[in-house]
Amino acid sequence: MILDCHLHYWRYPEHFPKDVFAQFTGARQQGQTEEQIKERADRQADKLLREMKEAGVEKGVVLGLKSGTTLGIEVNNEDIAKALKPHAGKLYWGPGVILTDSGAADEVEHCIRDLEAVAVGEIGPGYGYFRIDDPRCFPVYEVARSYDVPISIHAGPVGPRNTYLKYGDLLALDEVCVNFPTLKVVLCHMGEPHYHEAAHLMSKHANLYADISMVPRAAGLSAMAPPPVVYPFPHLDEPLLYYFSAPARNRNKLLWASDVQNPKESMEGIRGVNGRLKKMGYPTIPEELIENMFHENWKQVFTKIQAK
Ligand SMILES: [Zn+2]
Repeated sequence: MILDCHLHYWRYPEHFPKDVFAQFTGARQQGQTEEQIKERADRQADKLLREMKEAGVEKGVVLGLKSGTTLGIEVNNEDIAKALKPHAGKLYWGPGVILTDSGAADEVEHCIRDLEAVAVGEIGPGYGYFRIDDPRCFPVYEVARSYDVPISIHAGPVGPRNTYLKYGDLLALDEVCVNFPTLKVVLCHMGEPHYHEAAHLMSKHANLYADISMVPRAAGLSAMAPPPVVYPFPHLDEPLLYYFSAPARNRNKLLWASDVQNPKESMEGIRGVNGRLKKMGYPTIPEELIENMFHENWKQVFTKIQAK
């Protein structure tokens, strides 16, 4: 069974400080109309389910996000729970919180206990101006650990210009994993662009995993301008090749996810890795390890979801 372990649900304009979002996406400069912005930004449950079906994906985990003043997306956790309830067993979810908020641990516990959340995240320290090794975050880790629910953290840098790189310090994961060795942590986007650090951290910590969403090649190139030069180690291939060639205790810690990209395109991008590597004369990755990222690896992490 294929699980997409990082999806998003949000409605435009309800979940957007519109001005911040327009600024971040450059929609205003590009002269986009309100309808065009809505078409691009709105991600309702039906759309997710349709795209999953086209890609042959059975189940998905929808993650919340709090990034109001930076990225311009602010989803209310109760809204997610309500929107996904009719699709229980198909779409699962996790609440987004600012970890340093004093009520964060209570809110997470409420979502797990009363609203059937099976994960926590997407946690975005870069968007929310906090460090994940700040002890004020620890009560949320303790709640997640006690319910055996994984936490998905976008621990690397983020794009908006009004953010600070210091909050996207990947090495802060080290302290989280040392202090909470039985908490399952999923590093979003494999720490883009710090793939080598991510691979090292995963080999050091048995409880650290990574999703490979939004790694540019995985996304296809449709979301961004095609590069004028094709670098011989395109982004997806380089982190995957590095991860699978580095010493590791467990080679099955990468989890496939599409985030806001089209899942079918994302899967095709990943499954094309060996074709590209062969063309360039590089060693290939065993097909079994690639397929495990879709079908198997998530089972170690999202233990509340049954493979049907
Ligand atoms: Zn995301």
